[in-house]
Amino acid sequence: SRVAESMLSIDDVTVSFGGFKAVNGLSLKIEERELRVVIGPNGAGKTTLLDLICGKTRPTSGSVKFRGIELTELPEFKIVRAGVGRKFQNPSIYEDLSVRENLEVSIPQAHSIRRSLFFRRTPEIRQRIDSVAEQIRLSSQLKGKAGLLSHGQKQWLEIGMLLVQDPELLLLDEPVAGMSPKEREQTGELLRTIALGKSLVVIEHDMDFVRSIAQRVTVLHQGRVLAEGTVDQIQNDPRVIEVYLG
Ligand code: ADP
Repeated sequence: SRVAESMLSIDDVTVSFGGFKAVNGLSLKIEERELRVVIGPNGAGKTTLLDLICGKTRPTSGSVKFRGIELTELPEFKIVRAGVGRKFQNPSIYEDLSVRENLEVSIPQAHSIRRSLFFRRTPEIRQRIDSVAEQIRLSSQLKGKAGLLSHGQKQWLEIGMLLVQDPELLLLDEPVAGMSPKEREQTGELLRTIALGKSLVVIEHDMDFVRSIAQRVTVLHQGRVLAEGTVDQIQNDPRVIEVYLG
């Protein structure tokens, strides 16, 4: 009988920068519709891990398989096309465009711009944008300039710009950085809703926020997985306590 494959399977991956191993023999599996949080002290390799999955950084050795496809051999645009979306820490939205236009330009392009302009005005596309706008709480701001949104709303818009591409796996780097408590709570709701249909890997420092969203937490240290488990399990793990206090 066939053993069910994980959605994402990272197997014994090392990333060397010169002689320094930012990721050092790391293995990690992410399942379908999982919301995984990755924590760890500065320099633990968290960003490098996300870079590795989206193809921004290539491993020195090891394998990264997404639904059976070896990602380490694919160019970045094909990794996106395979269903992996990455959001970086600082919002990169088009400030002078409206919220709706920001979502429109993020829809995967057809072969020519003219075709894509035509394509994105179909009722299906309009509906996709409206439904994403509702999810990210920006329905009433679709016509407004993106540059006028609050910092938190810009972060949501950027998540929306990923969602219109309908990725299967979202990689988010500190999605609540700089947000108000209310925005954090609403972002938690958003991420939990997304996880009903997709998988997420989220780098996060704020342990209250981690507790509010995480099913499983992976602790990285010196480029390796130090511990994995529920928030309670990892917060009571002596190895984790030592790394954070030591
Ligand atoms: P984290 O996100 O957990 O803070 P990073 O993945 O950013 O950690 O970095 C892990 C380690 O790798 C750090 O010591 C960092 O200085 C080093 N590093 C990251 N990227 C590069 C690079 N392009 N060249 C050299 N060293 C790097």
